[in-house]
Amino acid sequence: MSPHAAGGGDPAAAHHHPSHENALGELFLPDRTDTLNLNLVKAPPACLDYVIIHELCHIKVRHHGPDFWRMVSRYRPDYLSERRQLKHYT
Ligand SMILES: [Zn+2]
Repeated sequence: MSPHAAGGGDPAAAHHHPSHENALGELFLPDRTDTLNLNLVKAPPACLDYVIIHELCHIKVRHHGPDFWRMVSRYRPDYLSERRQLKHYT
C-alpha cells in the first residue's frame, strides 16, 4: 500500500501535529471539540487566516504529508512565514 493511501488506523491518531503546532487547536473537525488557543487573538490576522485554512484543509487531508501542504499553499502562498510568526503567539 502506498504511503499516500490514508487507510487503516485511527484518523485522530493520524492527525499528529508537530510540537510547535500543538497549541493551535483543532477547528471544524467533526470528531473533535472545537478549541482555539486564545493567545492567537494577539497574532496578526494573516496568521489567523493560516490557522483557519490549516484546519479546513484537514477536512480533506487528515495528515501533514506533501498533499496537505500543497493544499495549504494554494490558499496561503505565504504560509511558511505565517507559520513562523505564529510561534511567537503560541
Ligand atoms: Zn494540522
